[in-house]
Amino acid sequence: SKITIAIDGFSSTGKSTVAKQIAKHLGYVYVDTGAMYRAVTFYAMQNGLICEADFNSKALINQLPKIDINFKFNKDLGFAEVYLNAINIEKQIRTLEVSSFVSKVAAISEVRQKLVEQQQKMGKDKGVVMDGRDIGTVVFPDAELKIFMNASAETRAKRRYKELLERGDKVLYEDVLKNVQERDYIDTNREDSPLVKADDAIEIDNSNMSLQEQFDMVMGLVTN
Ligand code: C5P
Repeated sequence: SKITIAIDGFSSTGKSTVAKQIAKHLGYVYVDTGAMYRAVTFYAMQNGLICEADFNSKALINQLPKIDINFKFNKDLGFAEVYLNAINIEKQIRTLEVSSFVSKVAAISEVRQKLVEQQQKMGKDKGVVMDGRDIGTVVFPDAELKIFMNASAETRAKRRYKELLERGDKVLYEDVLKNVQERDYIDTNREDSPLVKADDAIEIDNSNMSLQEQFDMVMGLVTN
């Protein structure tokens, strides 16, 4: 029978790559919860609620009912893309600019409440692989399988840097590393649902693992 698989961990640990592969292999639904926090951040940026390093969290909280986030499966890509108020924003949410604000937005309790509720609805029938920071601890504390992914900050920053360059974004490695470290800090130190490994999560450090090795390891845990 179908289970719930929670994959949590620090930024750019390659959670989504493995989660997508596992979901495809099992015929499960994959949910990228980071994309939802990024979508709210993108909305705030578009509506002038974020200026420079500061942002207007009160206004954002007031406008939360106006923010509709949805996923639609893209056959060619093989995964679901994220939509903000019916507009595909999958590409726009992956920029370093969105990354630089998202952890502050994700620290707002009202934002988390809204998104966690939606995530719980999306996964209520099991057969879901969900990746994020609080899936095994808050969203699905009863998930049958919990993975906690980790890798050194340098390894993660290098991966993210390569991804951004491949997209054609002009970024500096130092800025990407700084962003990864800053998000680690905010995510682990926020008051509401800080990033922490669930007691019953299995930790995988993938600094020196190939994608195939990670896939095999997680699949081994699914069938056990
Ligand atoms: O996974 P991704 O790096 O796209 O997530 C972006 C940010 O969204 C994280 O750095 C974190 O601040 C926030 N997030 C969260 N809870 C989740 C998923 C993401 O707080 N379940």
